[in-house]
Amino acid sequence: MLPRLHFAHLPTPIEALPRLSAELKGPQIWVKRDDQTGLAFGGNKTRKLEFLIADAQAGGAETLITAGAVQSNHCRQTAAAANRFGFACILVLAGEKPANPSGNYFLDQFLGAEIVWAGGSGREQILEQTFESALEDGKKPYLIPYGGSNEKGAAAYAFAMQEMLDQKADLDWIVFPSSSGGTQAGLVVGGQMFGYQGRILGISVDKPAPDLQESVAMLAGETARTLGESSKFLPDEILVNDNYLGAGYGVMGEPEAEALNLFAQQEGLLLDPVYTGRAAAGLIDLIRSGFFTADQNVLFWHTGGTPALFAHPYLERILAG
Ligand SMILES: *Cc1c(COP(=O)(O)O)cnc(C)c1O
Repeated sequence: MLPRLHFAHLPTPIEALPRLSAELKGPQIWVKRDDQTGLAFGGNKTRKLEFLIADAQAGGAETLITAGAVQSNHCRQTAAAANRFGFACILVLAGEKPANPSGNYFLDQFLGAEIVWAGGSGREQILEQTFESALEDGKKPYLIPYGGSNEKGAAAYAFAMQEMLDQKADLDWIVFPSSSGGTQAGLVVGGQMFGYQGRILGISVDKPAPDLQESVAMLAGETARTLGESSKFLPDEILVNDNYLGAGYGVMGEPEAEALNLFAQQEGLLLDPVYTGRAAAGLIDLIRSGFFTADQNVLFWHTGGTPALFAHPYLERILAG
């Protein structure tokens, strides 16, 4: 058994989205509310942190170190988990310090994380340096990878698949944003372990499909081994759609703005500008192009990220419609 703590609010609900389904004249759309996992505005990283924090505790660590974008949901949830379990927290954030704190970056500061700015130089290298100096200073650091996506973090989504199957077993498709790949790898492993019959489609947020398929397949294999399974996964078996990369990571365009507004107006459901907005834009486009049929059940897995709604310049962009 993998060591695990229990602090996420689970199971997260599954809800029907009848008004959105009618508006789009497509399949029955459902949503799995992992935006409601309970830790400082929640999100998919909370599930992963149940395993990662348990591992940090088991190794006697005292400081959590991780990295991400300025509006990283992963960094915000890591900072909150650090406080909850008595760790210090250092976040290596990409780029330069913004003039005004907002969204997740405001919350990182509010939660008291120490922030290291990577500037224009290699974030990976700054992360290594930060880890080395914390080690030398006796801070007992524990390194959490980008997005919490190693075999321990991804294992959380194998169990999330089991949780979902207990709630609703007759789904044809699961659609969600995929970036560092831990969520998708876990769902794929869980799908095999617990007998999911439908398909799992990651909408790539920032990577060409072949790259993401390869890294998800590799991580799924490692995750399966960690869980005592001997399965192998081929990149071709990992379903990724990279048609919605737009102008790149974190750049909110017309399709994301339309998706956010549609979900908010039809269902009162809040998406985020970077991840779920992009995946929902993909879902909407796939419905309009007839990829899903009207008799199918499609689950949109809401992975969180809503604090970025309150970040500049997203909030101005969303109101512009
Ligand atoms: C991190 C994140 C994702 C991507 O999950 P991965 O496991 O990194 O692929 C999707 N949505 C939100 C809101 C996230 O914060």
